[in-house]
Amino acid sequence: MSDAPSPDLIRLIMDLRRQGVTDARVLDAMERVKRAAFLDESQRHEAYENKPLPIGWGQTISQPYIVGLMTHALKLGDRMKVLEVGTGSGYQTAILARMALRVYTVERLRPLMKIAEQRFKEQGISNIVTRHGDGYEGWPEQAPFDRILVAAAAPELPQRLIDQLKPGGILVCPVGPAESGQVLLRLTKHDGGKEVDSLGFVAFVPMLQGVARDG
Ligand code: SAH
Repeated sequence: MSDAPSPDLIRLIMDLRRQGVTDARVLDAMERVKRAAFLDESQRHEAYENKPLPIGWGQTISQPYIVGLMTHALKLGDRMKVLEVGTGSGYQTAILARMALRVYTVERLRPLMKIAEQRFKEQGISNIVTRHGDGYEGWPEQAPFDRILVAAAAPELPQRLIDQLKPGGILVCPVGPAESGQVLLRLTKHDGGKEVDSLGFVAFVPMLQGVARDG
């Protein structure tokens, strides 16, 4: 298979740029990480359409624009240690892994975690560490983090995650009720306090408490 980006991927990247994702490093990562590789074979023809898609267990792979927006908002550096909550398909994780030093990702649904792990392996990505667990707990043994990305909507900014952020660190997290009226918030932590700004309205699956039982 050739490495040249397909016409629909090029169209998607132009779309993202038009929508305000202008960070060249983010666009480069989104051009190189194949979203198709994080989908079932039956869905691959839709991989480069700018929309979310179902990935089973009631979950979705995020819309590429939202992945671009969140990644851009994080202002990642290549030496950074990142925590992600809600691995899902693993696509957003792979984008983060391309731009940061190491990504720690937590998923409460074990079957999704296993599929994502397999995909990281197939794609030769070796700087992602996975955990089956409850993202509300964060990852205390690995804290503090430079950046934290939450890929599910929480009722409010999770304090335990804020506690696991370094001074100067950034947390991006959708906040609000299930499926509607959510806003994407960015919190920047300072020595003496924090600053929160809103990045617009979004629709994420809810961030649930506890680990799902297998099945
Ligand atoms: N960025 C992912 C989005 C996945 S959807 C992608 O593009 O594929 C959100 C994911 O968050 C789901 O897989 C869901 O199971 C997971 N999730 C929800 N609540 C969680 C929690 N408390 N801890 C860990 N993962 C959680």
